[in-house]
Amino acid sequence: MKKIITLVFLFLLLFVWNWSLQEQGSEKFNILATTTHMGSVASDLVQGTDLTVKTLFPPGVDPHLYTLSAADLELIKSADLIIANGLHLEASMYEGLKLIDDQLNILFVGDSLSEQNLIQVATVDPKYDPHFWFDLDLMTTASELIFESIINQFSSIDATLLSANLDDFQMQLNDLKSLQIEMQTNADLKYLVTTHDAFSYLARVMGFEVKSLIGITTEADFSLKEIRDLADFMVENQISDIYTESTVNSKPLVKLQEILAQQGFEANFVSQPLLGDSLQAGQTFIDYIRYNLMVIYE
Ligand SMILES: [Zn+2]
Repeated sequence: MKKIITLVFLFLLLFVWNWSLQEQGSEKFNILATTTHMGSVASDLVQGTDLTVKTLFPPGVDPHLYTLSAADLELIKSADLIIANGLHLEASMYEGLKLIDDQLNILFVGDSLSEQNLIQVATVDPKYDPHFWFDLDLMTTASELIFESIINQFSSIDATLLSANLDDFQMQLNDLKSLQIEMQTNADLKYLVTTHDAFSYLARVMGFEVKSLIGITTEADFSLKEIRDLADFMVENQISDIYTESTVNSKPLVKLQEILAQQGFEANFVSQPLLGDSLQAGQTFIDYIRYNLMVIYE
């Protein structure tokens, strides 16, 4: 399936590449971020400058499953700089972009981070968990990489202003790190039961373990046995909270709750969904991290 999507992507790309008339009437912008997370950081960094940022994936969309339209490819072609999450988060589109890397100006943020700081999940690609943004130290480095790409690409940009914006963003990350320490000290969270492993980096920082059904990509299948095993684990460890995710189908978690109920164990859904692979509309990255911390710890 993945191969077919990649081929469709490449076909569309070549088609759009040669379709020069499409340039007419397209709205001017400078930076195209693939995900809402990278879009928010880029927007914060260019605040007060003339540079404009567009985000490819709309809020609420699952990047693991997103398929590109011809209009999306036109945006990719029009951007002066593309900022992608990388590490295969963008699924088939990632492979397509890698193939034409030399023709576009793309920063794959995750791929540019030191491998030793990433969570390795396999010995072959995709080797690393792509949800690095939940580790705020990695996001500090990521913001520097984005800053450098912008400075390198737009030589006439006010570097002092951009540098001040970077400082401001990193100060907000530091405030969040203090909040994390405070929350970790006041709570005793051992396990987080949810659908997919978007939260493994947060778990590493906060010292809990993610118990999920479908691994690091939402494309993977899960079996009834997997749900039963998780149910057994929850009963054994008396875990009664189940966390849904805004971009992931919660049906398997409903099944999990049913299986637990059959065993006479009452588990409940936490009222607010976690936000894993997408920010909400109008939300900044900083607000998004704070929101998730509140859902988990309050
Ligand atoms: Zn994900």
